[in-house]
Amino acid sequence: MNQYLVHFSLVIAISLLLSACEKPSAEVNLYSARKEVLIRPLLEQFTQDTGITVNVISSKADALLKRIESEGINSPADVLLTTDAGRLFRAKSAGVFTPIASDVIESNVPKQYRDSENYWTGLSVRVRPIMVTEEGKKFNLSRYEDLSNPELSGQICIRSSSNIYNQSLVSSLLAASPTEEVETWAKGLVGNMARSPQGGDRDQIRAAAAGQCSIVVANTYYLASMISNEDKSDDFSAGSAMTVIWPNQVEGRGAHVNISGAGVVKSAPNKDNAVKLIEFLSSDKAQEIYANVNFEYPVKADIPLHPVLQKWGEFNADPLNVDYLGEKNADAVKLMDRAGWK
Ligand code: FE
Repeated sequence: MNQYLVHFSLVIAISLLLSACEKPSAEVNLYSARKEVLIRPLLEQFTQDTGITVNVISSKADALLKRIESEGINSPADVLLTTDAGRLFRAKSAGVFTPIASDVIESNVPKQYRDSENYWTGLSVRVRPIMVTEEGKKFNLSRYEDLSNPELSGQICIRSSSNIYNQSLVSSLLAASPTEEVETWAKGLVGNMARSPQGGDRDQIRAAAAGQCSIVVANTYYLASMISNEDKSDDFSAGSAMTVIWPNQVEGRGAHVNISGAGVVKSAPNKDNAVKLIEFLSSDKAQEIYANVNFEYPVKADIPLHPVLQKWGEFNADPLNVDYLGEKNADAVKLMDRAGWK
């Protein structure tokens, strides 16, 4: 008798276990520092492919991180999507993420664009080159290091040192040169500023168009969006007047690159779905949409570029591991402060 009973109960137990495993809650909660209009088409595609609903909470990056921290283990957050390796590093340091073990992500995303311990991964690449007006071409700039050259006095527009993109740029320089050299460079750059830092990257391009400066450092997706928006004619003509210079191509390391990326939250109630979402965002299908909709570069190789980006041609990117940008962030901030970079 008992043999049958044991067998029967075993079958019941196993099928209960299997159904529990097979029945993931079909949702994932995404805390996103990226504009919802930009990611909506992607998330819809994900839901169509997997049946998993994505609930989005959008806010500023630092606010989302604070929110996850204050929600603690009860946080509904599964995935934090944000920009800049420096911020992802902060989230990791705050203990917000759990490592992701995924062969899909490892094969889709080059090692350079992932956290060395897999706490987060990059999902798009952003490049911060030098841009010049017709007037600025005469300086023949080819390296970030050139920006401290005294002959550029009063020529440079760049945003403030509180901006994480500039902090990450300085971190990348700290990877390439001794601290004293970078500090001297930063002082030279500050001396060459056309005005006290103000506004965002687009504002630097607008200032150049207005004749306030001839050299700008800005992320390319801002320039691309200005060039692509013919309805806003001032921005269109300001953007169209700029030439992109890919820095450090001949001598050395390449143009400074950063990422937007994501990590799975440690207390995620839907961890499996969280990994599935990030895997999807690294896939060919998502990469085409994800990078193109915001004029960024795909993180995955062999994805066709947006036509505006194709026009600027190919460039060598700094092969530095982007998690180094986060590690050096505090040093970069202090250095910029010492250099008088407002
Ligand atoms: Fe930005």
